[in-house]
Amino acid sequence: MKLQDKVSEIKGVGDKKSKLLHNMKIDTVDDLLHLLPRKYEDRRQVSYIMEAPFNKDVLVKGKVLARQMRGNPYNRRTPLRILVQDNSADLEILFFNGRYLANYFNIGAEYTFYGKITLNNGRRQMAHPEFHKLGDKDDVRGIFPVYPLTEGFTQANMRKLQKDALQAAKDAEEWLSPDIVKEYNLCGPEYALEKIHFPEDEREIREARYRMVFEELLILQTGLFYIKHGCRAAGDGIVIGADVSVKEFEERLSFKLTEGQERVWKEIQEDMAGNRAMNRLVQGDVGSGKTIVAELAMYKTVKSGFQAVMMAPTELLAKQHFSSLKRDFEPLGVTVDLLCSSLKSREKQEVLERLKTGETNILIGTHAIIQPNVEFKSLGLVITDEQHRFGVNQRTLLAEKGTNPNVLVMTATPIPRTLAVILYGDLDISIIDTMPPGRKPIRTFLRGEDSRHDIYEFVRTKVKEGRQAYVVAPLIEESESIECHSAEELYEELSSEYRDLRVGLVHGAMRQEEKDSVMEAFASGRIDVLVSTVVIEVGIDVSNATVMVIENCERFGLAQLHQLRGRVGRGEHQSYCILICGHESAVANKRNEIMCKSEDGFAIAEEDLKLRGPGEIFGTRQHGLPELNISDLVKHVDILEDVKKVALDIIEKDPELTREENRPLRQKVKKMFGENIQLNL
Ligand code: ADP
Ligand code: MG
Repeated sequence: MKLQDKVSEIKGVGDKKSKLLHNMKIDTVDDLLHLLPRKYEDRRQVSYIMEAPFNKDVLVKGKVLARQMRGNPYNRRTPLRILVQDNSADLEILFFNGRYLANYFNIGAEYTFYGKITLNNGRRQMAHPEFHKLGDKDDVRGIFPVYPLTEGFTQANMRKLQKDALQAAKDAEEWLSPDIVKEYNLCGPEYALEKIHFPEDEREIREARYRMVFEELLILQTGLFYIKHGCRAAGDGIVIGADVSVKEFEERLSFKLTEGQERVWKEIQEDMAGNRAMNRLVQGDVGSGKTIVAELAMYKTVKSGFQAVMMAPTELLAKQHFSSLKRDFEPLGVTVDLLCSSLKSREKQEVLERLKTGETNILIGTHAIIQPNVEFKSLGLVITDEQHRFGVNQRTLLAEKGTNPNVLVMTATPIPRTLAVILYGDLDISIIDTMPPGRKPIRTFLRGEDSRHDIYEFVRTKVKEGRQAYVVAPLIEESESIECHSAEELYEELSSEYRDLRVGLVHGAMRQEEKDSVMEAFASGRIDVLVSTVVIEVGIDVSNATVMVIENCERFGLAQLHQLRGRVGRGEHQSYCILICGHESAVANKRNEIMCKSEDGFAIAEEDLKLRGPGEIFGTRQHGLPELNISDLVKHVDILEDVKKVALDIIEKDPELTREENRPLRQKVKKMFGENIQLNL
């Protein structure tokens, strides 16, 4: 049997079992061997019946004193009772529906039993244990793997299949270079497979697991580098001299940069002064002031004779940036243009023309700016705002508008640093970890359905004081259209509740222009209460909005709640976030508690990660990250750091993974990423 053979090659696996395995995504022997135990049972120590703890799995040994079936012996359901004894106490073994087992137990013979002991009327009992006759070839002593199973298999079945499949493990070839194996002290692949399933002690589990985690993370990281290496083209980058002064820009600012902004700005300047193109991610919580840092970089670029471009995910956000950039730059003689799909074609033509001649210094726009007809005279800096809304490809396309321009990407999605390293591959990372001074903390409350009336009244009071409010409809995973429907219903309800107020609605199924016009009405104060789905999540800035009501908050992730909350608290007035919880659960309660307690996006992201695990947060939908079998991006960060070095080394020497020695790695990358990767092989 070979690793690549179909599972049907294994004895006892017929059509039916093959199909069941296929449903678990297991087709080959190798796949089967990668169905890893989710835990192990330690059955090495035999306990005395008297000393064994109750309600915990224990291994005991006993001699059979009696067999009995109380009640009607011809009824299949009559329990079988076996009375056993060791030197310490008696134990009653129970098998419901276990009549067929009666003949297996010989009076006077010794057996081992593995299961939980309970105390029933002073009598020790163990129901449905695993058992073996002492001295049998598959005696129950040892460390036992416990597999994640679906119907159709018992643990015993699966153990047997794995034992058989392991015969093929001997042709598992070492595919890592001897240097890596030596440096990281990795065990061989055959050993790893064998010991991950049938270890003799904890040390063997650790060795096997370490190798497998290392492998998996290496495949992941290499794949990500492979996808992203195109972003950092070879050749020299554009150099923006460190001596170019931005003093006149800084002097016009009405505030002082925060500590975090200063630090990040310094990092950016160092990058731009070097002759390797900048490739930097700036992370900063909502409201931390990323835009100003971007403006500084743009200004310095323009003063050095180059153009700069900034791409935003929505037209509304692009327009918002456009007006603040115009305000900040025009007095300094820097020209700013806007490009988005709603422009009339004549206007568009004019902008394109000005870009080409270099008359435009700074361009801001939506993804309209990555269209092929957009040409720059001398592009020096490329910025993407709210990067998490774009794919890697779009970032690359934008950078390709210039010759090795400096690249800056900004995101408000707080991702723990270690994870950002993976998700953004070869980007350098800066974090703005300070908030502009004088911000009033947002007061966050958790309420139940029963407070709905009071909440509505509260919103009304705030509106009467001149403020505005958001009400976010429940998140509905399955379908955007149901979600929009629920937003519409909520809108109906609030419209009749607030006959005296102006209520607006915005949701994902509306056309972009409709969305923008509603958002503009809200921004300019023509709407008091805005009902929406999560579409408002992205960087819109309405400083007069001070109340954020979130319906069915238990459906949202922590990071998402935090982003939503970040829509308020942007002005001088006290802001409020009211979470309406529909269904309580332990996780929901924990999350709500964190939301009420913390306003720190990074702390919240870390908690979110702990509560939900990275799989959900960085699900394939958002980031294209494949599923992991054994490694955990949070638990194994230390291994990840080592792996990153190894992967970088491999990809630098062999960017296309075409070398013969990288063939197995290439295949593994292809298998892991599947459709998500274009490997030109
Ligand atoms: P974000 O990081 O969410 O994009 P913005 O760049 O939109 O945040 O900044 C939010 C607000 O804070 C803006 O109105 C901006 O003018 C203001 N701001 C930025 N930096 C400072 C600072 N150092 N001191 C005071 N206000 C600042
Ligand atoms: Mg922003």
